[in-house]
Amino acid sequence: VIEVKDLAKKYGKNDVLKNISEEVHDGQVICVIGPSGAGKSTFLRCLNKLESPTKGQIKFNGTEITTLSEKELSTVREKMGMVFQNFNLFPNMTVIQNLVLAPIKVKKMSSQDAEKEARSLLKRVGLEEKANAYPDSLSGGQQQRVAIARALAMNPQVMLFDEPTSALDPEMVGEVLAVMKELAEEGMTMVVVTHEMGFAKQVADEIWFMADGYIQEQGTPTEVFDHPKTDRAKDFISKII
Ligand code: ATP
Ligand code: MG
Repeated sequence: VIEVKDLAKKYGKNDVLKNISEEVHDGQVICVIGPSGAGKSTFLRCLNKLESPTKGQIKFNGTEITTLSEKELSTVREKMGMVFQNFNLFPNMTVIQNLVLAPIKVKKMSSQDAEKEARSLLKRVGLEEKANAYPDSLSGGQQQRVAIARALAMNPQVMLFDEPTSALDPEMVGEVLAVMKELAEEGMTMVVVTHEMGFAKQVADEIWFMADGYIQEQGTPTEVFDHPKTDRAKDFISKII
């Protein structure tokens, strides 16, 4: 689904991503791990061109996206749902309004259809009864589940998650991971930046260990967590597990 070739990104003189070449296949769950400042968020944001790469190619369903116009890009972005650390819900809208906004505006769905779909998504994330609540009346875990439902409302082909649980109180992490795990089991293609090693071990098809702007090591969870090859990965993994 996604092919990345020789991707590089500089901020001024800072080489944040250095010649990354990777592929994400249909139905795969990739967990990206690595120390702070490794370039994980930058990498994720390059995949849907929220950041412009300095160099390299990114193909989505075979189409090179680095050269697309903003208008063409918006069609691509519709197919890549993104969930951030800080939920980013619209605070002045109810939960259901958050969910139907893009499907009505962008996909030109009727409000009845969009609402029906939104309610079924809320049910899926266990928040049916919160349809008319405002985001600030919800817990962090509930807000993040709404954010996931909102991304799913566009019927994306791929979901990108950037540390979706790291802003949550510990007791709410599980409910969000459970929703993500279910998505993975349903076959959603996912790229997840996370520090939740239990989740990564259980759910990931591949772990990519990133440090200093490179993917230094990749493999199955067993390969990377139990038998890391590089000192860098050994050191990181010994600290987080
Ligand atoms: P964390 O685990 O802390 O989220 P990360 O792996 O996601 O870290 P990035 O946020 O991708 O790392 O940042 C990688 C490097 O790029 C850092 O050195 C950061 O300071 C730099 N950087 C990120 N965004 C920008 C920006 N908009 N302008 C300049 N430098 C940036
Ligand atoms: Mg980050």
